[in-house]
Amino acid sequence: MKTDIKSLTTEQLNTAVKELSLPSFRAKQIYKWLHESGCTSFDEMTNLGKDLREKLSDIYYISRCDIEDKYVSQLDGTVKYLFKLTDGEYIESVIMKYKYGYTICVSSQVGCKMGCTFCASTLAGFKRNLTAGEIESQIHSAQKDLGIRISHIVMMGIGEPLDNFDNVLSFLDNVNNENGLNISMRNITISTCGIVDRIYDLMDRNLQLTLTISLHAPNDEIRSKTMPVNKKYPIDTLLKACREYGEKTGRRVSFEYTLIKNVNDSEENARELSDRLRGSLSHINLIPVNDVKERGNVRSSKDTVIKFRNILKRNGINATIRRTLGADINASCGQLRVKRLESKPPRSGYFS
Ligand code: SAH
Repeated sequence: MKTDIKSLTTEQLNTAVKELSLPSFRAKQIYKWLHESGCTSFDEMTNLGKDLREKLSDIYYISRCDIEDKYVSQLDGTVKYLFKLTDGEYIESVIMKYKYGYTICVSSQVGCKMGCTFCASTLAGFKRNLTAGEIESQIHSAQKDLGIRISHIVMMGIGEPLDNFDNVLSFLDNVNNENGLNISMRNITISTCGIVDRIYDLMDRNLQLTLTISLHAPNDEIRSKTMPVNKKYPIDTLLKACREYGEKTGRRVSFEYTLIKNVNDSEENARELSDRLRGSLSHINLIPVNDVKERGNVRSSKDTVIKFRNILKRNGINATIRRTLGADINASCGQLRVKRLESKPPRSGYFS
């Protein structure tokens, strides 16, 4: 079994180069080919001799994402890719254009174990974690295809990033590296459904990225029904971790709240949510749920969304309504993979 060389951090690559008895400058050359140029074969590494390229390819492979399908929104230019991985699995990424630059939404796993009832990512089941190199390859493939430079990353595609903790950390290390894509931690957002133990682990790394929590409910009763992870880590435990995260890293945690008609969008829900978040200085993003046919959830009306936001604001909670991008291209996560695969029922009982 060969190892994915693109998943090694600089430190690991330095060690590997030393173990091959190569001069240390080779490590930087190889690193730049992989992470700055986004090479997908050793033959592209023209400043390495043929023997060395052959030696490397005997031990390593380079992970990659091949474009299987591409959709461009006629409404706002958002681009969505269905990528095929070397083992034939599929993942998705979305590229959005904002005033400050291009943002990519990357997948972190093939499928998801978390079982949230409104999300398409769980529908076709969980297959495997992505390697650090595969997470990064989504950026390289999109940049090459579009001829752009991506400046911001959100980890909000398929999968739960904190359920693939070590690979996500290696990925962050590499994209942040000045010999690689050189993307600042402050331009990176990790979204989690709330795996509290890993939030504490992330806190210990003291990274300057943005952590955002998929909250989606004002109380444990609703949250446990829609997000099984809540059975293991209830809201109070989660919010305590978020407060400590903010204190330790100096980076305020933000929240996402997907509004689903008659599930979590009543005025009472808004008041309860305000009580829960009061004093925690947090920002909340309200997102009208994207229709996922198989899920049967209905989007809250515009009036309801505005009313909900106003109640939060009156109670001193900083809330914004997220603009929907790519509505005509199934831009919410997991939808293309589900279409491509035969739909299987989600794995249930992961947290029960
Ligand atoms: N597992 C991570 C990241 C992936 S989901 C997490 O849970 O945060 C990225 C965001 O999209 C999450 O906030 C998720 O709850 C939300 N989401 C999932 N399905 C959605 C849908 N149908 N409509 C709107 N938002 C959705």
